[in-house]
Amino acid sequence: QFFSPEMNASAMQRLSLDNALHHALERNEFLLFYQPQIDISKGTIVGMEALIRWQHPEHGLISPLNFIPLAEETGLIIEIGEWVVRTACLQNKAWQDMGLPHVQVSVNLSGFQFTPNLAPSILAILKESRLDPRYLELEITESTLMQNTEATLSTIKLLNDAGLNFAIDDFGTGYSSLSYLKRFPISTLKIDQSFVRDVTTDPSDAALTGAIIAMAHSLNINIIAEGVETIEQIDFLTRHHCNTMQGYYFSKPLPAEQFSRLLAEGISQ
Ligand code: C2E
Ligand code: CA
Ligand code: CA
Ligand code: CA
Repeated sequence: QFFSPEMNASAMQRLSLDNALHHALERNEFLLFYQPQIDISKGTIVGMEALIRWQHPEHGLISPLNFIPLAEETGLIIEIGEWVVRTACLQNKAWQDMGLPHVQVSVNLSGFQFTPNLAPSILAILKESRLDPRYLELEITESTLMQNTEATLSTIKLLNDAGLNFAIDDFGTGYSSLSYLKRFPISTLKIDQSFVRDVTTDPSDAALTGAIIAMAHSLNINIIAEGVETIEQIDFLTRHHCNTMQGYYFSKPLPAEQFSRLLAEGISQ
């Protein structure tokens, strides 16, 4: 550690994190946690979102919010992103081979991962892991769709033709027009948790959430509500015919070992 008086604490922390991030992959310090997605009408787990964590030897468990932006700036997001897809596919396949329910695993993709190599790399990982492509879903944001639209569209089409599904994450928070829902093969919209949070107290969040659900239904797109924490939110969503939900009410993201028990035993409500 080098302490210089000119450097403030956050610049120092950043420098040491930046160095450590370079070594984190080879030192095997990343982990995936899994959070269930529930079909409330059946009470079953229908999917799981893989969320990365960094088990840092000194700083402990670090949230992706604290290192994904840095990984994007440094370009390391490419290798980290590949690690995430590979680990999620191998894990899902291992659970299927153990006889656990076959469900989709959703992986978050950064816009920075949309290079010409993305599709070949994901297809190679699917082949290597022998996971049926329909059990892998890729979550992207509206802003990813708005950048390099033509190149992104051809990558998404290629992967969609191979059997993968795409979800729009944080739906409703982007600035984009809705016309891309017609152009891109999107199977799922995830209503952002900022709408779900106040859905029972803020009439405009309630109206927006209701409208998003209705729009998804009429376009024949699946809808998931994120950040579901209360029974009142579940009531609202159910009344508006949104049956797939994810949030702390059901389970926090869990380490693989714990998640596999949940998958085996099912969710109790
Ligand atoms: P996200 O994709 O929107 O993921 C949902 C976040 O909300 C997760 O935070 C999750 O733990 C949290 N969450 C789930 N249920 C609830 C709830 O009921 N209430 C509240 N308040 N929060 C809930 P997490 O795991 O810290 O991830 C933060 C963000 O980091 C993710 O947001 C995603 O944008 C990014 N991220 C996570 N893993 C990856 C990854 O493998 N690759 C990339 N590129 N980004 C990732
Ligand atoms: Ca996500
Ligand atoms: Ca989200
Ligand atoms: Ca987010």
